[in-house]
Amino acid sequence: MRQKVDNLVLNNVRAYCSQLVCSDGYQIDELVGGRVRPKSNSFEPINVMSDPLLFMSFAEWDLHNRGVLAFANRFGIFGRDENGDDLREWTRQQEYISNIIAIAKQRAPELPPILEGLSDKDVSLSLTPQGDKSRGEITLQIYNLSAAMRVQMASWIVSPPERIIKCGGCDRFVSVGPGTRHQITAESCGDRRCINRIGHQKRKLKGI
Ligand SMILES: [Zn+2]
Repeated sequence: MRQKVDNLVLNNVRAYCSQLVCSDGYQIDELVGGRVRPKSNSFEPINVMSDPLLFMSFAEWDLHNRGVLAFANRFGIFGRDENGDDLREWTRQQEYISNIIAIAKQRAPELPPILEGLSDKDVSLSLTPQGDKSRGEITLQIYNLSAAMRVQMASWIVSPPERIIKCGGCDRFVSVGPGTRHQITAESCGDRRCINRIGHQKRKLKGI
């Protein structure tokens, strides 16, 4: 089932990813060797590509104990069946992404080809002619969280944002610069809940 989608303008390519998140949240099933699984089969699509630095947030996410659930409850899981994900897969994904980020930050020449190996189960490209047929829009449809984060990484490497901040309210990385939401400040992603949470933490620190 192709769900309604989210988008990101990746240079001249429009990228969409339909990530389904269980409306009832996730649980870790220790009995089957540590798997994170949806609690029900009620799902809602979320906006993965509108969070273009999600890969960076994931790279630093604390995957111990409830950390996996905190991430899954917000952004879903990697697999798409009711059996859920093996937690070792999460560690592998995190190591892979952290490694690429580290290499990219050093501007090392040995940066591996990030999008190599993606199959048509992960992404598909389509060209929609517009107007006078000499123009068209390229659409990249992404089918899973792993592929979405790889596309995000490639986009970040090719055109890095001017400045990146980590939101003190939700631990997500967001970019600051032309074209970003003006609510983003040096410490918050601009989400009302995060602004409130940071304000609350500050008042607590000051003992107000
Ligand atoms: Zn936030």
